Amino acid sequence: MRNIYGETIQDLEKYFESIGEKKFKAIQVYEWLYEKKATSFDEFSNLKKEVREQLKKDYCLDKLEVKKRQVDNLTEKYLFRLEDNEFIEAVLMKHDYGLSVCVSSEVGCNMGCAFCESGRLKKVRNLLPHEIVLQIMAIEEIIGMRISSVVIMGIGEPLDNYDNIIKFIKIINHPKGIAIGARHITLSTCGLIPKIKNLSKLNIQINLAISLHAPNDTLRNELMPVNKVYSISDLISTLKEYIAITNRRVTIEYVMLNMVNDTQECAIELAKLLKGMNVYVNLIPYNETSHLKFKKSSKERILKFYDTLKKQGINVTIRKEFGSKISAACGQLRSKEV
Ligand code: SAH
Repeated sequence: MRNIYGETIQDLEKYFESIGEKKFKAIQVYEWLYEKKATSFDEFSNLKKEVREQLKKDYCLDKLEVKKRQVDNLTEKYLFRLEDNEFIEAVLMKHDYGLSVCVSSEVGCNMGCAFCESGRLKKVRNLLPHEIVLQIMAIEEIIGMRISSVVIMGIGEPLDNYDNIIKFIKIINHPKGIAIGARHITLSTCGLIPKIKNLSKLNIQINLAISLHAPNDTLRNELMPVNKVYSISDLISTLKEYIAITNRRVTIEYVMLNMVNDTQECAIELAKLLKGMNVYVNLIPYNETSHLKFKKSSKERILKFYDTLKKQGINVTIRKEFGSKISAACGQLRSKEV
């Protein structure tokens, strides 16, 4: 049985047509689900009884089971149990401009980045659209507040689960859905070029972030196996195309690994690579994990790297650190209960 939280408006319109009903019922369903937060089809009082009965036969309204919630000042981490007993995590961050949630897109991840904890568990499966939507719904319900932005930066490589991620974006972006504006949705990818090209043609105004982490192929090959398939020069030319088509600024993520990619040579090489592009670089302080050998760069090294990029005319910011105490920070999420 399908879960109704995984249906876009278009899916529901098709469904209603297929059972001989009017398309506009799709909007009514969204109002019950996302505005009135109904918990059973019996509450859908503006739909005829027989339609409600049919919905019950075709769909379920099951939510995700929240297995654990950890709270640390401005960050909360949620562990969810899925129907097949797999686990995923999502993180709530309280900014001064509102609340954002970092969602997972897969159980495990196949990208194998050397510095990332999430990838120690190989991909078990894609998350379905409703399993991503319901991460946000569960958090909103528990805290009793609205989420204003979403980053797809949890466990998994979103573009390796392309169709489900696009559905997820359509559902949360719809004004009658969770109504998160496209400009408040950020998708982060390690750089799956064909999928970035597809994304550029969709005409959705989301933010794209690229995990670059190295300014040359030799170093990037060591850190990110995906680079052996999609090299830096191909990635950069794809991004130039993406920017030309979408007219959107792209974020370049760069995790600061002590003595690995945080040298002055790297900063200068990175600036050369990005010169003249409509991008900004987000320097990410590395979160150490007990299993991996990498160390975080010192504040001084990060600031020096930052200054060098600035002097070369590159837009750059340093990512605010969230949640490392409860292992809720970038690269620390896992598909594991303990
Ligand atoms: N697969 C996607 C999204 C998940 S990772 C991607 O690669 O972009 C989200 C971001 O956190 C990526 O930029 C990733 O490289 C970074 N990251 C991974 N491990 C980290 C760690 N231990 N400390 C800081 N950032 C990390």
